[in-house]
Amino acid sequence: ISRVRGAPRPRLLLQGQRRSGKSSISSVVFHKMPPTETLFLESTTRIQKEPVNSFMDFQVWDFPGQIDYNDGTFDLETLFGDTGALIYVIDAQDEYLEALTRLHQTIEAIQRHNPAINIEVFIHKVDGLSDDFKLDTQRDIVQRTTDELADMGLDGVHINYHLTSIYDHSIFEAFSKVIQKLLPELGTLENLLNGLVSNCRIEKAFLFDVLSKIYVATDSSPVDVQSYEICSDYIDVVLDMTEIYGYDRGELEVSTVEETKSSIGSSEDWSLPDQSSVMKLQNGMVLFLREINKYETPFHLLPTAPPSPPLTLPS
Ligand code: GDP
Repeated sequence: ISRVRGAPRPRLLLQGQRRSGKSSISSVVFHKMPPTETLFLESTTRIQKEPVNSFMDFQVWDFPGQIDYNDGTFDLETLFGDTGALIYVIDAQDEYLEALTRLHQTIEAIQRHNPAINIEVFIHKVDGLSDDFKLDTQRDIVQRTTDELADMGLDGVHINYHLTSIYDHSIFEAFSKVIQKLLPELGTLENLLNGLVSNCRIEKAFLFDVLSKIYVATDSSPVDVQSYEICSDYIDVVLDMTEIYGYDRGELEVSTVEETKSSIGSSEDWSLPDQSSVMKLQNGMVLFLREINKYETPFHLLPTAPPSPPLTLPS
């Protein structure tokens, strides 16, 4: 974790045509804007470099759709040079052929300048579509892109597709998957979570960035959307409570990652005044949230019911 902070920030480029939903996505995911308020957002008209202050330290570049890669105004080496992932947003409720042409041009430019970039396509605003139509749209977009790239001689390019909407958790899940691929420590984190799950008889563990509700890692059992959603809702509840009734934790807030890391080993340090919260649900399941460090990244756990003996909480 400390190495991630010391390393250069993995940069995400958020790109897509005007009105495709880019500003809404970054406002909802990184600034906690309620989805309905995005109706009044001004459309993106320029490149915005938006540093996001959270555990991950990444940046989102909100990028206007009207870019010509060949007119020489953009330094593509710099633009794509240290980019980790390109997120290309397509409005699935609108005519998308032109958006696809732009996507294909972008992929071609990426292949010339930095083929290591992960290419992630968000088929966005799918809240208005029926399940069948969603899948048809995805199939159509995949097919057209595969054909076009083959015609361009780029058939080896790997592209990930995600169906997203700001009106449900799909946008957070898609971001989680995008971010996880950029984490060199993912395997280690996953192993640690596997150890935690088996030693503490927990059903599912997530490592969350609570500010964005993106999960940075999880144990290797499959993610079921409901577990993710309930953890995500629980984070909202705890954060709201903390905002109203939380107290200034002084020193702990300014403790370095190194201090936090060394403190995890000794049991007495578990009594540090960090955030934790437990909630037992109607179905016997128990949610346990525990903050890991000042970047407010707790484990968020779902122990198997009945949780006996319960997890030892800090005194
Ligand atoms: P940008 O120009 O790409 O930054 O697009 P905006 O973020 O300004 O979004 C354009 C419009 O799309 C706004 O009215 C948003 O409310 C709407 N929008 C964004 N995301 C979604 C979504 O997931 N579902 C629906 N139904 N509308 C969305």
